[in-house]
Order: sequence, then structure tokens, then C-alpha cells
Amino acid sequence: MATPPRSALTRLLSRLLAPGRGEVRAMEDAMHLEGVLRFIAVFAGTVVLPALLLGWIGVHSVRSEELDGQAEARRAAQAAARTFTDGVDRELSSFEEAVETRLEAGRSTMDAPKELHPDLVLTLRFDRDLRLEAPFVMGDQDSVHSSGPLAMDVWRRADAFARSGGDPDEAAARFKRAAARLASPREVARADFDRGRSLLAAGHRQAGLAVLQAVADQHGAQRDPWGFRYSDLVALTLASELMGRDPAAGARALGRLVDTLLADRWVVGEGGEGAVARRALSLAEPYLDPVWLSGARGRVARRSAMLFWAEELLPELDTAGAWAETAAVKPGVARWRTGSRALWATARWQDDLYAYAFDLDTLTNRLRADAMGSVSADAPITALLVAPDDPEPANIVERRSLAPYLAGWSVAVILRDPGALRAEQRRRRTLRFGIVGISVGMIALGFMTSVRLIGRELDVARMKADFAASVSHELRSPITQIRLKGESLLLGLADTDQERDSAYHVIVRESERLSRLVDNVLDFAAIERGAKRYALRPGDLAESVRRALISMESSLEFKDMTLEAVLPDDLPVVHHDADAVAQCVINLISNAAKYSSQGDTIRVIARTAQGLLNGRQQDIIEISVMDNGIGIAAHDLRQIFEPFYRSRDTQARRRKGTGIGLTITRYIMEAHGGDIQVTSKPGSGSAFSLRFPLNPPSPSERGTPNLSPPGIPRPFHGA
Ligand code: ADP
Repeated sequence: MATPPRSALTRLLSRLLAPGRGEVRAMEDAMHLEGVLRFIAVFAGTVVLPALLLGWIGVHSVRSEELDGQAEARRAAQAAARTFTDGVDRELSSFEEAVETRLEAGRSTMDAPKELHPDLVLTLRFDRDLRLEAPFVMGDQDSVHSSGPLAMDVWRRADAFARSGGDPDEAAARFKRAAARLASPREVARADFDRGRSLLAAGHRQAGLAVLQAVADQHGAQRDPWGFRYSDLVALTLASELMGRDPAAGARALGRLVDTLLADRWVVGEGGEGAVARRALSLAEPYLDPVWLSGARGRVARRSAMLFWAEELLPELDTAGAWAETAAVKPGVARWRTGSRALWATARWQDDLYAYAFDLDTLTNRLRADAMGSVSADAPITALLVAPDDPEPANIVERRSLAPYLAGWSVAVILRDPGALRAEQRRRRTLRFGIVGISVGMIALGFMTSVRLIGRELDVARMKADFAASVSHELRSPITQIRLKGESLLLGLADTDQERDSAYHVIVRESERLSRLVDNVLDFAAIERGAKRYALRPGDLAESVRRALISMESSLEFKDMTLEAVLPDDLPVVHHDADAVAQCVINLISNAAKYSSQGDTIRVIARTAQGLLNGRQQDIIEISVMDNGIGIAAHDLRQIFEPFYRSRDTQARRRKGTGIGLTITRYIMEAHGGDIQVTSKPGSGSAFSLRFPLNPPSPSERGTPNLSPPGIPRPFHGA
């Protein structure tokens, strides 16, 4: 017999294993080892390696996705912060440009601050000595000098008398007395002015005008104790007096007064000009052009507001510092300083210092809202404006300073909900690792399944090969026997009648055995093709069994075995195929004989009983074949009805067989709507029972018997 070619690996392994175990054993072990190594190599190549690769890719992709996510959040945060600071830069640098353009064009930046920037509340100009020059001037502190409360009391009483509608002549006299008692020229001027007004009211026009004119001439530039400039008070009084005589001319005079006031610089800390202008406008209202009137009102209101802010904010402006800072930069270019209430932009132009104040609260509140709105509400980040003394916000992703405009201020982009973000990250990680794990598991499962399927295919192939070998073997021994006995008869070698008789018996017995074998093989082939049909006819089951027993008699006799049969005569009639049932009984008896020892007894019993068949309790007829032979191991019980299956047990293996007898028997029983059951104990014997339903089943109940694929266990009956 030719030996299969051996691989270099097997040869190498056998050489390594040879010492201590002999060449043949070493070769066997080497082949086995090579098989194991091959399996390990295939397993490593098809499962372990892809699994590792997949795992690595999974972990790597999760990691890089997380990094990408973080990088993206950082990019988004940077973009948001940049957009915001760019916005602030654009807004304030365009203010600088507007200022510069105006100054270069020789236009004033003093009026209408809102045109330069909506949050600009004040613009100021200082001369090179850093004295406030426009649109206001600082008040003269020295002019305030009081004559004392007693002297002022005289005037106050006169004033109360005049206001309460007292006689104007008397009022003029009282004011004159008050003037005589007052010491401060500023207060004397006030009493004179009031006297002038009382004289006018009393109808002494010439005298009144003279007094008022004198006040204007001597004290025009001075202010009364309430901050009103005498020239303005006189002008207002004269114009109102004129209105009494010629309203249009009076109104024109009031208009001119307003224009003069607006053209003038107002005084910080002495805001009488605004009140005089408002009074003049309200007196002249019915007679003036409404368009001019509303324009003038606007200008007065703006100037008054600026004056308010000037009084509020000037104390925090360090003009000397601003001058020094701006001296270093290009003329017109602003330097920024953050005060406590104002954001100051200061710029030098020619010999002057310009200071622009933004209301810090309004500006930063607006920027705060802008920052919030600069990131969409569904983004994982949000932007905050952070003041110099604000606490440090948590989870900052990006921070940008608002210098040089708002020193100390910054915009911080923070994670909106870091907890939710982490939870989302965990969820994604679990999902990815889950997918990778499942994929790896499926690869392993696929591999295992393939190994099992291939193993089964190999088993089937081996079983078929065994089957062919067993059939040939099984055929050979009866044929040899028949030929030997035939030849000895032919050649007259059997001398006595007894010898001749024995030869005939052997020929008959062996040809019966031969035909049983051929029947089984042919039936099995027909069953496999699906071509096997049975003719079920009502008949006596005991009779069919009896036929089988008769055909087996000589074989059992030969083996010196006893057959005990209990076959009641009154068994009910059952639909069955007599030949097929006989074949079943013959298969069971020949197995019983085969797997028992010489001289043993085989019992065949038929009886009616109650039993669970086809899922329901019913009357059945049971034909049992019992032996006390080698028995069947529990794990074999599951498979002995499968095609080609033969027990691996050495005792069973010693007996020749094809592995199809029980398969055919099971098939025949299913075709009868019945089944076959087995109970067995290794070493004690086996009992096989053919169970027929008493009432013939309908074709649908009977079902289509089939041969389950080899190796795949189908439910076997009983145990
Ligand atoms: P075989 O030709 O091998 O007997 P069967 O299909 O008739 O094929 O039986 C299948 C297997 O069941 C046998 O190989 C044997 O191991 C086991 N077997 C069947 N009948 C008996 C029995 N009466 N006692 C012990 N083992 C049995």
C-alpha cells in the first residue's frame, strides 16, 4: 500500500520526536502534532489576527474620534472667541477711524457723540495745558463768595414777596434794600437784576431796562448763586418783555438767545445755560418754526446730557496720563483706558487732547449679550464676557483678551454642560467597543461553526467510506460460505447425508443473510432517493412477526441461541406492510444476535398497551426484541438511528455491520405512523420496541418520514 506523501514539517517533527519513541510512533505523533499546529495557525490567521486587528482599529478609532471631538470643540471655541473679539475690534476701530476722519477733515467731534458710537456719552477737548476747552469749561471756583445767611434773608423775603404777587413797586423797593445790605458783588447783582424785573413789571420800563442793562454790563459774565449767568438772565428777561409788545420779535430774540447759548461753552458744575435755553424755547414755542424748534430742543438736550456725564466722569480722567500716552502715538490714533464708570479713548490732534467717554455699563452689558449670542444655542460651548474682578469661570476651552480696548476684560468660551458631554462620550465608547466585541465574537463563532461543519462533512465522508468497506466485507463472507459448500457438494466432498444436509443448510442460511443484506442496502438507497413506498393493509401483526422469526431460525440455531417469542393470537388487526414489518423484526433480531454472545437468549414479545405516541396517549401494539448482550452506551443511544452510525465501542466494533439497519427500521416505523424506542444498559442488554398505533393514522398525522442528515441528532425515541 502506497503511503501518503509527508510534508517537510512532519518529517522535521518526526525527527525531533524520534528519540525515545521509535520511528513509526514518532511519525504518527508528528502527523498529529502537525494537524494541531495547522489548526492553531488557521485559528490564529482567521480569528485571532482579524480579532486583534479589529480590536486595535476599534480602540484607535474611538480614541481618534474623541481627540477629533475635542479638537473640533477647541476649534469651534477658538472661532467663537475670535469672532467675538474681531467684532469688538471692528466696532471700536471703526469708531477710531470715524474720529480720525472727522478730525482730518477739520470737523468737530464734539457734537452728536452717538453718531460716532452708540455708547459714547461724552467727548471733550483739552488745550495743551490740559485745560478743558470744549464743549465745556471748568467753573471758576473763586467766584463763590456769600454775604452770609442774614443778608441773604433780606433778599429771600423780597423774592418771596415778588413771587407771591406782591406790589411790584414795593418789591423793587425791597430788592433795593436787600442790595444795599448784601456784600458779595455776585449777590448784589442778583438783587439788582430782580429789582430790574420788578420795575418792568411795575411798568417803569425805562428804569427797569436801565437797571438790567447795568447788571448785564457790569456782571454779564458772572453767575448768580444758582449758577445762572447774568447776561443770559438779562437777555431772557428782555426778550420776554419784548414778546409782550411784539411777540414775533420777542420770539426771534429768544431763538437768538438759544443759538448763542448753544454756541457758547457751558460750564461744568454750573449748569444754568441748559435751564435758560429750555425756558427760552418754551416761551417762544408758539411763534418759532417747529423744525428749528425740535432741532434746537435736541441740541439742548444732548448738551445737557453731556454736561451731566462730564460732571460724573471727569473726576476719573487722568488728563496728564492720557496726554503722555497719546504723545507717543500717531496724532489722531486713540489710546484706550478703562475707568470705573467709563471706557475712555483719548487721542491727540494738533495741540489738543481729545477724550471720548463710553458708558462702561451700557457697553459691557451689550457685549455680554453679544457674547452669549455669538454661539448657537445647541452648540456644546457658550461664550461669556469676563470682567477683571469676576471669578474665574470653570471649564474654559478658549480665552481671549479684549485688550487694548478693554484692559483686563476677556471673552471666555466654556463647555456648556461638561457632564452631559462626558456621558455622551462614554455612551459612544461603549457602543464602539460593543460593536468590535460582537464582531470578534461573530468571527470566532463563524470559525467554530465552520470547523464543526467541516468535521461533520469529514465524518460523513468517513462513514460512507466505512459503509462501502463494511458492505463489501459483509458480502464476502456469505458468498465465500455459499461457494465453499456448493463446491464441496459439486465435487462430492460431503460423504454422509448429514454432511450434505449441513452444506445445504449453510447455503440456505447464508443466501438468506445475503439477501437480507442486499435488501437493506437496496432499501436504504431507495429511502435516500425518496422512492421507497409501503403498502399498508389490514392484517395480523403477529403473523408478520412470525414470518421474520422463521427466517431467522437457522441463523440463531447456528449460533446456539434461543429465541423466546410471546405472540398472542388475539392481537388486533393493524394496517401494516407485512414485508417491511418482517424486515424491521429481522433487523432487530440480527442485531440482538450480533451484539450478544453464543448461547444467549433473545426474547420477542408482542402486546397491546397504552402509550404516548405522536404526542398523544393512545392504544398501541408494541413488539419488543430483548437481548442480554453488550448493551449500548448512553451517548450512542442518541445516534444509533442515524445513517451509517456505528458505535465507537470496541466490543461493538468487533462485530461487522453497515450502520443502516436501525435507520431503515426507524424509517419504516415512521411510515406506519409509529416509532421505535430503545432502552439499554451497557453490559446488561438492550430492548428495542416497535410501536404501532392501533388506529391507523391519517396520512397527515403520519407525516413524511425522512432520514435526518448524518451527525445532526434528531429526536430519538425513548432511552
Ligand atoms: P449495524 O450494522 O452496525 O448493526 P445498525 O443500524 O443495525 O447497524 O445498528 C447501529 C448501531 O447500534 C450498531 O453499530 C451497534 O453499535 C448498535 N446496536 C444496535 N443494536 C444493538 C444491540 N441489540 N445491542 C447492542 N448494540 C446495538
